[in-house]
Amino acid sequence: LNREATRILIVEDEALVRMDLKRVLAGLGYTDLREAGNAEAALALAKSEQPHLVLMDIVLAGGADGIDTANAIQSHLDIPVVYLTGNTDRAVMERAKESSPFGYILKPVEEQALYSTIEMALYKHQADRTLRQSELRYRQLFDEMLNGFALHEMLLDDAGKPIDYLFLQVNPAYEKMTGKTRQDLVGRRVTECLPGTEPYWIDVFGEVARTQKSVRFENYSAVLKKFFHVAAYSPVRGQVAVVFEDITQQKKTEEKLAHRTFHDALTNLPNRALCLDRILQALQRAKRRTNYLYAVLFLDIDRFKMVNDSLGHLAGDKLLQMVSAELSRHARSVDTVARVGGDEFAILLEEIKTQAEAVHVARRIMEGFRTPLLIDGQRIFLAFSIGLVLGPADYDRAEELLQNATIAMNYAKEQGGNRFKVFKWHMLKRIRRAWDVDSHLHQALQRKEFEIHLQPIYHLGTGRLAGFESLVRWRSAEGILVPPGEFIPIAEQTGLILQIGTWVLYESCRLMARWQRNLAGGAPLTMAVNLSAKQFSQPDFIRRMSRLLAETGVEPARLKVEITETMVMENPESVVAKLRGLRELGLTVSIDDFGTGYSSLAYLQRFPINTLKVDRGFVMDMDKYENLVIVKTIVNLAHNLGLDVVAEGIETEEQLATLAGLDCEYGQGYLFSRPMTVEAAETLVRDHFHSNRDDPPGHA
Ligand code: C2E
Ligand code: MG
Ligand code: MG
Repeated sequence: LNREATRILIVEDEALVRMDLKRVLAGLGYTDLREAGNAEAALALAKSEQPHLVLMDIVLAGGADGIDTANAIQSHLDIPVVYLTGNTDRAVMERAKESSPFGYILKPVEEQALYSTIEMALYKHQADRTLRQSELRYRQLFDEMLNGFALHEMLLDDAGKPIDYLFLQVNPAYEKMTGKTRQDLVGRRVTECLPGTEPYWIDVFGEVARTQKSVRFENYSAVLKKFFHVAAYSPVRGQVAVVFEDITQQKKTEEKLAHRTFHDALTNLPNRALCLDRILQALQRAKRRTNYLYAVLFLDIDRFKMVNDSLGHLAGDKLLQMVSAELSRHARSVDTVARVGGDEFAILLEEIKTQAEAVHVARRIMEGFRTPLLIDGQRIFLAFSIGLVLGPADYDRAEELLQNATIAMNYAKEQGGNRFKVFKWHMLKRIRRAWDVDSHLHQALQRKEFEIHLQPIYHLGTGRLAGFESLVRWRSAEGILVPPGEFIPIAEQTGLILQIGTWVLYESCRLMARWQRNLAGGAPLTMAVNLSAKQFSQPDFIRRMSRLLAETGVEPARLKVEITETMVMENPESVVAKLRGLRELGLTVSIDDFGTGYSSLAYLQRFPINTLKVDRGFVMDMDKYENLVIVKTIVNLAHNLGLDVVAEGIETEEQLATLAGLDCEYGQGYLFSRPMTVEAAETLVRDHFHSNRDDPPGHA
């Protein structure tokens, strides 16, 4: 508060003194002055003018004196009073003191004393008020906190080791969690109130007490049969404060989610993700052990679509369940039978003795299906096309192996189905040639036919534009805009993704660097770029990224790389090192399509990442309760791990409202905007920051 803006009410019955005071105050720079000559006028002005401070003469002519007037003012209003007095009579001073004034000034008033007393009073009043407010807020928080809170005094043994804890304070949430009341707890020992928890208290809180650090751990289930996150810290030596967050519900959903992400709902077989994980393990075992043989069978039902359409979907589902049971019959307990697609299954055979054994299994399966399946009284004959990959082969990635099994399966299909084919490398070459896409992509690179399109990402709480995701497009010679889904998988396979990905990275960073300079200025927009597994697994990936930053001049914090869960889980150790490298460069990292891969939620904590992007699939189906819970869980999980969340694929206002209600920070989707050209994005940025003039400064 500066001096001109400080409104002071002078209460003084002698006009001459009043004038003199006004002169001195004005000389000090206090120009917003009001004056009153008696108690009633003072009270009325205090109410109507709301001064910041009252200078109050103690002796007033007429009825009430200054002290009574001050009391009257303060019983209605929160305004500090400073007394002016020529009287140092003891009794008067005592009475004045009781009215808790903010200062006394002796008459005749001396300029410096007046100045310092006023400033002191204003400061003290402000400080008092802040304190009162924060106490109130704290009190409220404490009572309304959803998390249980308890404050303990430590009881120490002679050696200074904690042996028990006395409850000093608990909040309502704590009472609810433990099922005990405040009276049951406060003043009593923990071991007495919550028997059976000794090890927990003594060990963990002993640690806290010694180090005065906070700890966080889970699983306080012994007594309450619940899961908690517990944070403990020691605010004062000898005391321990504990905050319990009930995560039982979340735990349950996580388990469900884990099952869901690993298993196919219809057949309850492992899904593609889990299958890939098992294949990867087999690959790794094959590398460690000599003579370790395994095989992967990829099975696709011939003409399933026809069967499905003629039977109807319910019967189709039943059929798939029967198929899965039949396939499982041919597998031993070490093997994995998985449903990897609609009518696609994969079988991983482990520890086989000869490659012929795998061929034998394929034959047996085909024979098994010679007997028709009986559905609703109808006899259904099914045939399969089967592709086989025999290990050990030199694969690093499970996907690649599964893909090759698919290629072999397609060979079988091309030759009329109801047969199996063993994968041979020449098939890959032929397939590639057949697709001919690879060379097209090469050309496209040379002819600079790729473009990036940008999809805005918004902060859901404020509606502010937070940044963009850069999405590659191929504008083919015929002018058709080809979406990435149609060429990225092929580019992945041929390795061309490295060049395409590098181009996208450079293009996106150069663009952002340009915006930094002359478009969004200080607005902290981010640019998210998708990385493919091949890019990320380059041994010199970090060096490349560092060069990218240096060459494009993009501020590292504005660049966000998106990697998928699968990429993270495939090789956790080297991934952690790379993620650390990225962090050191100042980049941020998002996990894309979260919820669809097979990341173990527990693992996630170890990765230095910043953001989870909830997969579109969950957002789309949020009106299904299960999906809503999953989204909620992901958001909670992210927040517990200190990550923020971007929801993908928001298409409706309802989805937006739900997500905002879940405290999901950011969103992206057709509701806001489809991916757009760079020019359109620039216009969007300009308009956005132009129309939000009172947004934080810095925009151009
Ligand atoms: P993604 O990273 O999950 O990107 C989001 C995709 O969802 C984009 O598809 C976007 O257009 C689409 N989308 C956004 N909002 C909505 C919505 O509200 N509803 C629906 N139905 N869809 C929405 P797009 O551009 O076809 O990209 C598909 C995938 O291709 C990306 O998925 C990403 O995995 C990959 N990709 C795109 N660009 C690149 C790239 O430069 N490098 C690599 N390695 N992959 C890329
Ligand atoms: Mg993405
Ligand atoms: Mg995504």
